[in-house]
Amino acid sequence: MTFMGPAPTCADLRNVRYLFTDIDDTLTTEGRLLPQTYQALWDLFNAGISIIPVTGGSAGWCEHIVRAWPVAAVIGESGAFSVFRRDGQVVFDYWEDGILQAKRQRQHLEAVKALLDQSPSAFRIAHDQPFRVADVAVDIGGVPSKDVEILADQIREWGATVAISSIHINTWIGSYDKRAMSERMLAQAFGVDPVTIPSLTAFVGDSRNDAPMFGYVRNSFGVRNIVPILGDLPHRPQWVSSEPAGLGFVDIAAVLLQARAETPTANRLVDP
Ligand SMILES: [Mg+2]
Repeated sequence: MTFMGPAPTCADLRNVRYLFTDIDDTLTTEGRLLPQTYQALWDLFNAGISIIPVTGGSAGWCEHIVRAWPVAAVIGESGAFSVFRRDGQVVFDYWEDGILQAKRQRQHLEAVKALLDQSPSAFRIAHDQPFRVADVAVDIGGVPSKDVEILADQIREWGATVAISSIHINTWIGSYDKRAMSERMLAQAFGVDPVTIPSLTAFVGDSRNDAPMFGYVRNSFGVRNIVPILGDLPHRPQWVSSEPAGLGFVDIAAVLLQARAETPTANRLVDP
């Protein structure tokens, strides 16, 4: 069985042209990108599906991904920017002015560091913080979830936004999230008519910080490792794969490709 519970039909998925996907513990499996998962990305690319990773990951990572992976664009640092190629050049589109975001980040980083210094738990600023342009990331590995919640609430009290993934607290000053930047990208970069978004898009995720996308994208998938936190989500995925992480993504990609293959080109809403 590819899915736990209900499975999508070809009719649900036959017009999907844009696949948004989380990276950590969705594409990656225990931190690594498995060969079959990377092959699935290429298979989707070759079928004419535009892949857009939407991650809390750093600008440094996103810059690499947009150069090296078969993706149309990347949304990074939880929506602080999108990065794509234009006329052969890698271009960053910041949610707001890039200099303003960097200034806010410096102040927020100092405040979060001061909070961590007072915390009895083993939180650390993420090792890739120097490669972030807007976000502050805190490693939560090995820390009890109760302590993660306490720290998240303390940061929220300042008016900052907090998103909790399987590996980080990501926090920032600004009114964006994964969904907001995805909406902007579809409208501005790809020129997609909002009416067609429900049938043209799909999303795969694994964690609490993916909830805004589960609430936005109708064709939404979780990979199996999402099951323990389903009850914490304000918006849940419509379908959940039987396999975890990158292996679940492989199965989801196969279903998308099957739906595309079984649909006559003339019946597709948009052709590649
Ligand atoms: Mg994740």
